[in-house]
Amino acid sequence: MEKPVVFAVDDEPSVLAAVTRDLRRRYGADYEVMRAASGAEALEALRELKLANRIVALLLVDQRMPEMTGVELLTQAIELYPEAKRVLLTAYADTDAAIRAINEVRLDHYLMKPWHPPEELLYPVLDDLLDDWRANFHPVFEGVRVIGHRWSADGHRVRDFLARNLIPYRWLDIETDAEAVQLRDLAGAAEAPLPLVVLADGTALSRPSLAELAEKVGLHTRAVSETYDLIVVGTGPAGLASAVYGASEGLRTLLIEREAPGGQAGTSSSIENYLGFPVGLSGADLARRAVAQARRFGAEILTPMEAVKLESQDGYHMLTLSDGSTVASQALIVATGVSYRLLDVPGADRLAGAGLFYGAAITEALGVKDQDVFVVGAGNSAGQAALYLARYAKSVTLLVRGRSLEESMSKYLIERIEEAANIFVKTNASVAELHGEERLEAVSILDSTTGEVARVPAAALFVFIGASPRTDWLGGQLQLDRQGFILSGPDLERQPNRKPDGWMAEREPYWLETSVPGIFVAGDVRWQSTKRIASAVGEGAMAVAFVHQHLKGPSPAQRPAPASGG
Ligand SMILES: Cc1cc2nc3c(=O)[nH]c(=O)nc-3n(C[C@H](O)[C@H](O)[C@H](O)COP(=O)(O)OP(=O)(O)OC[C@H]3O[C@@H](n4cnc5c(N)ncnc54)[C@H](O)[C@@H]3O)c2cc1C
Repeated sequence: MEKPVVFAVDDEPSVLAAVTRDLRRRYGADYEVMRAASGAEALEALRELKLANRIVALLLVDQRMPEMTGVELLTQAIELYPEAKRVLLTAYADTDAAIRAINEVRLDHYLMKPWHPPEELLYPVLDDLLDDWRANFHPVFEGVRVIGHRWSADGHRVRDFLARNLIPYRWLDIETDAEAVQLRDLAGAAEAPLPLVVLADGTALSRPSLAELAEKVGLHTRAVSETYDLIVVGTGPAGLASAVYGASEGLRTLLIEREAPGGQAGTSSSIENYLGFPVGLSGADLARRAVAQARRFGAEILTPMEAVKLESQDGYHMLTLSDGSTVASQALIVATGVSYRLLDVPGADRLAGAGLFYGAAITEALGVKDQDVFVVGAGNSAGQAALYLARYAKSVTLLVRGRSLEESMSKYLIERIEEAANIFVKTNASVAELHGEERLEAVSILDSTTGEVARVPAAALFVFIGASPRTDWLGGQLQLDRQGFILSGPDLERQPNRKPDGWMAEREPYWLETSVPGIFVAGDVRWQSTKRIASAVGEGAMAVAFVHQHLKGPSPAQRPAPASGG
């Protein structure tokens, strides 16, 4: 944390220099001593300090200054720093004004000039005030501050991005938080579209794109090199495992992630069945550990950056990224997982991010404190979300399309849901419509046994209704099944006693190898994968073993012509 500030203001240059010198001598180790030669200059500096999230511990202000008196300055300064201790420097004739100021600006002390020797006249007073200030001081939050409307989709987008990339931020609601308004005005952004992101150095970004935000908060968005031994697309558990094994085994490894490391697992509130964590761990924690491990071995991670096109030529695989740049490698692992299926009912498009959320139970949980919320889905992810939300919300209603949870949810989660007093399960229930203009206000629920539709108030709806593979961007380069999952190894389509369709190498494909030699698949995006974190991690590690075998084979120049189609 940067040092708190002690601020001195006096229009007399010699007095200002003397008081600053005395303050620095005594307090310089623990405080930054700053100064200004007028009230206007002081206010300007205080506004900048506020915007940069700095703390002011004490204001030592001369009463007699032209244009603005010390009391007038303090009247405005306490709007910015109500907790700062206030001391007025006075001459004998100012005593009345100083006494009045005790009431007007809750003055803590007034000091007569001259204050020499400071050991007797200045330091004892200021020591006491600063001790008192420290005793009541609550450290400020130092990270990014996000100002916006609670139910804005753009606000949710920014919050979700920061949370999933493990960047600490503080959310300030413009409608309910006076500090939000003050900070927005200080940034000179009263008219700017929200959300407004105020960075630690005071820079403000109005409704930034995620790429812009990523760059400003220090995420890595440009590849250092044009070629790598191994490129991994996707940083869910499968991609992160590939990177840890690839980089630790000496491969120059690049990871590309369109949203945030952790993938689906990163959105889980509590993973309880992952080997070695008997009391469970959150998805964010797992992602944080895995990212640190991959980086430690030298893997490079680009985020947010999407792979949008794949081309294979002369044994190299070239990826075009969402910023138009390209990177190439001899080996590629596709670990792009699956994405949430969207709710297809009236109102869903309009209210996404404004009360309707896909996943995101962790990011939004605090915002639904003491409210009635709904979770749609009957799988383990829905069960986990319901339990997590129940810690904050007044009630959580789980809407289950089938007749019971037993068909799709683990027993341990069902038992916990039954034990929770504020979780209710509605079976044979599906969402028919979402209501609300600016934000979700109510949900119409269809009971499939009676055919009745009931409209109930709802503060938020969290959707976990399965997922579809993220393979559109491959442009038909790899063999896929009808739903879009990637086929590999023994599952590749082939004529009897022939090599797989489109396969262009002498050897047979390795087990996790796709229909293009050197391109491997791992995790949920693979056809008939297990859809578990442990399996994704295992496949990521295993794919790297096959990458080594592939790289040991003929060099790109010696390899046969490229595979051009699925
Ligand atoms: C809420 C929730 C809770 C869960 N809890 C558990 C649990 O307790 N135990 C368990 O075993 N399993 C759990 N699962 C399932 C588990 O999370 C998944 O099986 C696992 O995450 C799959 O990992 P993956 O790496 O294959 O894919 P994903 O986790 O889906 O990761 C794929 C990544 O690829 C990125 N990506 C996609 N396309 C591109 C592209 N074109 N360019 C760049 N990046 C791209 C995505 O943004 C994503 O980050 C849970 C799932 C959810 C949703």
